[in-house]
Amino acid sequence: MKTNYDIIIVGAGLVGLTTALACAHKGASIALIDAVDPKTTVPDGRASAVAMSSLHMLETLGVAGRIKENIQPITDMLIADGGVGDVSSLTLHFDSQNVGGPTSYMIENKLLRLALVDSIEEEDKIDLIAPSEFVTVDRASAEVKVTLKDKTQITGALLVAADGRNSTLRKSAGIDISKRNYSQKALVTTFTHERPHYGVAHQIFFQGGPLALLPLTGRRMSIVWSDKVAAIEAAIALPEEAFLAELARRMGDFLGPITLCAPRQSYPLSLQMAEAYTDTRLVLVGDAAHAIHPLAGQGLNMGLRDAAALADVIAQARALGLDIGGANLGAYSTWRHFDNQMLALSTDILNGLFSNNIAPLRHARRLGLAVVNRSDMAKAFFMKEASGQIGELPSLLRAVN
Ligand SMILES: Cc1cc2nc3c(=O)[nH]c(=O)nc-3n(C[C@H](O)[C@H](O)[C@H](O)COP(=O)(O)OP(=O)(O)OC[C@H]3O[C@@H](n4cnc5c(N)ncnc54)[C@H](O)[C@@H]3O)c2cc1C
Repeated sequence: MKTNYDIIIVGAGLVGLTTALACAHKGASIALIDAVDPKTTVPDGRASAVAMSSLHMLETLGVAGRIKENIQPITDMLIADGGVGDVSSLTLHFDSQNVGGPTSYMIENKLLRLALVDSIEEEDKIDLIAPSEFVTVDRASAEVKVTLKDKTQITGALLVAADGRNSTLRKSAGIDISKRNYSQKALVTTFTHERPHYGVAHQIFFQGGPLALLPLTGRRMSIVWSDKVAAIEAAIALPEEAFLAELARRMGDFLGPITLCAPRQSYPLSLQMAEAYTDTRLVLVGDAAHAIHPLAGQGLNMGLRDAAALADVIAQARALGLDIGGANLGAYSTWRHFDNQMLALSTDILNGLFSNNIAPLRHARRLGLAVVNRSDMAKAFFMKEASGQIGELPSLLRAVN
């Protein structure tokens, strides 16, 4: 292992791993540190809706090809305003055929993580240092100095905080966050079913929060059920049969009999935005910079866009012979801050609008769904947004011709 790198990344979650590959793709040498080994880490039962533009990047980086059999295109999306026993007939229907093909793809997090690690192990420019932790970080000088638990000292021009929503690096840099606690949790699990899902994703909004049914390869669906904390804790405690009955009551029986094939896990939900994305020789990416409600399936996509934008900014600095930990970081901050704020704001508004049972709001949202459903232009706009193709795209997110 060497001791001097262009970039030191702390956090080998999905975003840190991708950031390492994206920056190495642009020629930078990387030390990637994680407290746990990403190959044997705590099981993550989630699956992510990965936007088309994010998939382009995973293809270019040689990651998607490793798991192509396990990538499920989302062919259609149905959104309904529900109430148990009262699913609205006014559903919103996004058909990918209207925009020339799928805009998002479902990938299981654990498979994506392993594919990223496999790509990293084949990349000479990246040293994965895990399990390991830093004990001190010195960013005051002309370079970054990181001392690891085993007393090894490594240096770099730039430090990247990809250490998740409780980022130690963000806190130690004194960067504040604005936070809204949703008093909700998300229950995640997977079930098998008898009838085919045809690649259709469903999102049903209930008073306590949305229930998303997301198609995986084969006859499997991943669910993300957001609700008040007490409701999710009660749902986790239910015996399996009673849980499945409650699920069937909410989603109906269109998939035939269902069987759980994964444990139930839960995640607390909040909106959390860092007030700055950069500090001296420091950049924040992924959940360290922004964590949002999962209802739009965009948190990881935002982090992957951070990775691609940072790779471009670093490539530009390198091409001009500039210090990669210097003034160019402002360009990253401006680029990503606006985009992330807009997405965070829209998911926050959607959650507020749908997760309640106030009668006038309920009528307005049902009317809203019907109006959008009749407008091809509005639907095309939302689908473009879901595909991650709005705004100035970093080079790695553009389609490979
Ligand atoms: C229920 C749910 C469903 C979701 N569904 C979707 C979806 O469909 N589509 C989508 O785009 N997004 C989705 N998201 C959001 C997405 O999962 C996250 O945005 C994304 O996983 C964040 O990745 P990350 O790498 O930034 O952070 P993390 O996954 O939190 O990784 C942080 C890493 O840093 C390491 N670390 C932390 N501290 C240290 C330290 N001091 N030293 C060394 N290492 C450290 C940790 O071990 C970890 O490996 C969902 C989120 C939830 C909760």
